[in-house]
Amino acid sequence: MESCDALIVGGGPAGSTCAWALRRMGFTVVVMDKAVFPRDKLCAGWITPAVVQSLQLDTEAYAREHVLQPICAFRTGMLGGGEVETRYAETVSYGIRRIELDNYLLQRSGASLRLGAAFKSVERQGDHWVVNGAIRTPLIIGAGGHFCPVARHMGAQLGASEPAITAQEIEFEMTPAQSASCRMDGKTPELYFCQDLKGYAWCFRKNNYLNIGLGREGNHRLSDQIRHFCDTLKASGKIPQDIPNHFHGHAYLLHGHGVRVPIADGMLLIGDAAGLAYPQSGEGIRPAVESALMAAETLREAHGNYRLATLQPYVARLQARFGESRRTTGARPNSLRQTIGGLLLTNRWFTRHVVLDRWFLHHGQETLPAVL
Ligand SMILES: Cc1cc2nc3c(=O)[nH]c(=O)nc-3n(C[C@H](O)[C@H](O)[C@H](O)COP(=O)(O)OP(=O)(O)OC[C@H]3O[C@@H](n4cnc5c(N)ncnc54)[C@H](O)[C@@H]3O)c2cc1C
Repeated sequence: MESCDALIVGGGPAGSTCAWALRRMGFTVVVMDKAVFPRDKLCAGWITPAVVQSLQLDTEAYAREHVLQPICAFRTGMLGGGEVETRYAETVSYGIRRIELDNYLLQRSGASLRLGAAFKSVERQGDHWVVNGAIRTPLIIGAGGHFCPVARHMGAQLGASEPAITAQEIEFEMTPAQSASCRMDGKTPELYFCQDLKGYAWCFRKNNYLNIGLGREGNHRLSDQIRHFCDTLKASGKIPQDIPNHFHGHAYLLHGHGVRVPIADGMLLIGDAAGLAYPQSGEGIRPAVESALMAAETLREAHGNYRLATLQPYVARLQARFGESRRTTGARPNSLRQTIGGLLLTNRWFTRHVVLDRWFLHHGQETLPAVL
């Protein structure tokens, strides 16, 4: 039977970052993923500079072989309403393709990879776990995304009672004819909030790839809303008329919208498995990377004792960084708030300083350095 210091279930940004950090601390690490990489993941593929810094990503080297679209402006507004353009003097974010970034991070992590291997069973034997009857480890890290099987084992009610964000999206490479007729500027992604302010649609060009999607609380007429959004983009000549129409759907939890207990004896959850995405923007890669680094630091300090009490500092770190996880979905915007929200979203000052700088770019929140 194979043995390791830590088994990570899921090789997305959370799993690969935790593996990378633990390997550099001297742990033996196995990453198991049901997919064979490179694999795609539904995502707009927007990362903030904090992610680049925490991952110590060499942007020049990365951009030589992968899509890395600098972003220096945004066009924002309400669906069906006016638009505001906000420009920055520097690069404030990047566009990546998940099929590329996730594979890059996983390969560089230095972990032993078990790809195409789903987590199927777990059994307690003394102070150790035996997973799939084949891997023995004192510690399992759940990084399997929203439907993480480790989270399920720890008691999360996946799907059933959790108020998740539902999203539909498409990403495709444009043909030369489509590219010639596309008026989207890669440096300026477009974001449009739903009328009820419970989500937003986006259109995002990354080199020759186009990414279009809509994510919102509840799945209220999601397909209709995204079809209408695409029709508007086509009518304004921003995107080609003949885009593919096979949109795919996925769900995930925003921090504070559900309660997942992130630790148990010998087990710990990171990234979407712990439900950590930022509530205002839905950005989940940064919390995935940061929770992975906080988990690694906690495990280093645990010196091989992975009892619940020893893992508590991880919960404290999450709370200090993202706030307490309380269920806060009750508040529904009433029509007055929607009207005010609609007005504010076309106000240039509010758009720059609140929507973009505070909600989407988290200016003022310091970067979490890789603790290695
Ligand atoms: C439509 C959409 C757009 C988004 N856009 C953005 C964006 O632009 N920027 C941003 O920051 N965030 C975005 N997010 C959120 C972001 O995609 C997630 O927060 C992020 O992927 C979380 O990373 P993770 O490593 O926790 O999980 P994941 O990336 O979901 O990785 C989980 C891994 O676990 C594996 N796995 C699952 N089950 C098992 C099993 N049983 N056994 C073994 N392996 C398993 C999966 O194959 C997968 O590789 C978006 C989400 C959606 C749905």
